[in-house]
Amino acid sequence: MSKANVIEIFSSVQGEGKYLGCRQIFVRLADCNLNCAYCDTNFIRADFCKVETVAGAMIFRNEKNPLDATQVAEIIKQFADEVPTQAISFTGGEPLIHWQFIRDVASAVKNSGVKIFLETNGTLYNEFEKISGAVDIVSMDIKLPSVIGQNLFSLHEKFLRVAQGKDLYVKIVVTGETTPEEFLSAIDLISQVDKEILLILQPVTPVGKICAASAGKILNLQTAALRKLKNVRVIPQTHKFINVL
Ligand code: SF4
Repeated sequence: MSKANVIEIFSSVQGEGKYLGCRQIFVRLADCNLNCAYCDTNFIRADFCKVETVAGAMIFRNEKNPLDATQVAEIIKQFADEVPTQAISFTGGEPLIHWQFIRDVASAVKNSGVKIFLETNGTLYNEFEKISGAVDIVSMDIKLPSVIGQNLFSLHEKFLRVAQGKDLYVKIVVTGETTPEEFLSAIDLISQVDKEILLILQPVTPVGKICAASAGKILNLQTAALRKLKNVRVIPQTHKFINVL
């Protein structure tokens, strides 16, 4: 069984995207291959993983890292027994760095009836291809050059083509710095793969020097996206409103 450095495991409400509000078990894996300007997530490796004592209690015990996949599968089964759960969300960091670990945990919990949900930055398409069959739902980011300082569109396109046909949606975080040109390039990229792919525009939660986009800008971007894609929704992060993890 594979092992991985895990930051935290807890049960909470999905606060973003298509499955907003669903009860999920979150497995936050360490490490990321990107460095986004708006990142507010702790993905640095730690000696201990924080594991909720009871699903949703927000009280934690420490487990020594790295955790093995069997150990994490047992924690997931315990939480799923305590609270009916829609999906296990593998998040990060970039969870696909630990694709073998996701594969092994997914295999160990596959009879639990809980879906496997992947939250990814949409760049590691080779890794995704190896576990695509084990993943039910994909939440894939497209990172705009204004937040990442480089153009990742060719990686995103390859990822989209591998994930096409799954329960897939794309999320673009919109900031005050987002330019119409980069946004329209991202829309073209999605529409060339499949106009039916759901696009979520997520207004950034301001952090550090990153400022919010105006309401008018968000509406204009949604209008432009709707000219090329069938389903474009504006959904902010909501878990922070109600103070859950
Ligand atoms: S991909 Fe996600 S975890 Fe990685 S730096 Fe960007 S926002 Fe943070």
